[in-house]
Order: sequence, then structure tokens, then C-alpha cells
Amino acid sequence: MNLILLGAPGAGKGTQAEVISKKHQLFHVSTGNLFRKALSEGNDIGQKAKSYMEKGELVPDEIVLQIVVENLPENSGYLFDGFPRNDSQAKALDEMLGRKGKKIDVVINIEVDPEFLLKRMMSRGRFDDNIETIKNRFNVYKTETSPLKLYYFDQKKLVNVDGNASIEEVTQSIEDVLETHSD
Ligand code: AMP
Repeated sequence: MNLILLGAPGAGKGTQAEVISKKHQLFHVSTGNLFRKALSEGNDIGQKAKSYMEKGELVPDEIVLQIVVENLPENSGYLFDGFPRNDSQAKALDEMLGRKGKKIDVVINIEVDPEFLLKRMMSRGRFDDNIETIKNRFNVYKTETSPLKLYYFDQKKLVNVDGNASIEEVTQSIEDVLETHSD
């Protein structure tokens, strides 16, 4: 099984991805985590990504796809979190999986009311969680990433989950979705 978690910045994708990937033995692919790791290790890709992350811009597709390709184990199901973030990344992912004889099975969109998103982000204390960057990330989400809902709706893969509830309740909603898709 291969999944994508979609949702605005602060929707809880990372938190849910940790829990769900462990439970279902899926390989967790978080491009944000991969960039932060690359940055802390001081390597080239981290340096390239940094200026975009600081501004809340999308890192160019070429760099994103490179870090994904380099971090995709062969014999595993995947849980993508924070990737894809635009149409061309989604198409590239479909192709990449197609070449491996795999596909995305379900896309879970975690919907959270805007007033909660900001609160959640401000409590994380990440280097790119300042107000200007956050505003830009919301804009980028709206214009570039949220159209992916339609992309996956058209493929009949999109399922919406209410992300306003507690962490445990949201996990349970995701589990319910996965159960109906497991066969
Ligand atoms: P995240 O941890 O998913 O919130 O990502 C943090 C930052 O990393 C984003 O604001 C982007 O600058 C960059 N980033 C992460 N994933 C992607 C992606 N799939 N495409 C472009 N930029 C990304």
C-alpha cells in the first residue's frame, strides 16, 4: 500500500505520518524532514534548499525529486508526507512509481480550520515557523498544493478526514479509511 497525506501547513501530517507509518510498516517519506536532515549535515542539497525554506517557498522540483529518488527503498510501501506539493511533482511521482510497477492507492486529505493551523505551527518552534514565512507557506499551499485535491479526486483516490479533532481521533479516522482500502 502507498499513501499520501495532504493538508495545509500545520494540519498534523507529520504527526499522523509517524504513527500511521509505524503501525502499517510503511516507509515514511517526508521531504521536509529530508531537507532539514540534509541541512543539519551541511551537505549540498541542504544548502540549496535552505533559502527557499526560509522564505516559505517551494524548493525547485528538480531538487525535490532528487532527494525523493535517493531516499526511496525498493521493497516497501510508502507514506508520503509533504510531497507532492504541486502538479508536476504529482505527475513525476506517478511516473516514478509506475516504473517500479507501483501506484498511489489512497490520498488522505487532513482538513483543519485556519484558526487552528496557525496555533499549531507557532507551538512547534521550527526555524521556518515565523509569521512572514508561515504566511507565505499558506499562500503557496493555496495556489500550488491544494489543487492536488482535484488531481487525486479525479483519480478517485482522495478521501477527506476532519483534522480538527485530537491527535488520537484523527489517527482513528485515518485508520478507518485505510481499513476500507486494505483489500
Ligand atoms: P514541511 O516540513 O513539509 O513543512 O516542509 C518545510 C519546507 O521544505 C517547505 O516550506 C518547503 O520550503 C520545503 N519543502 C518540503 N517538501 C517540499 C516539496 N515537496 N516541494 C517543495 N518544497 C518542499
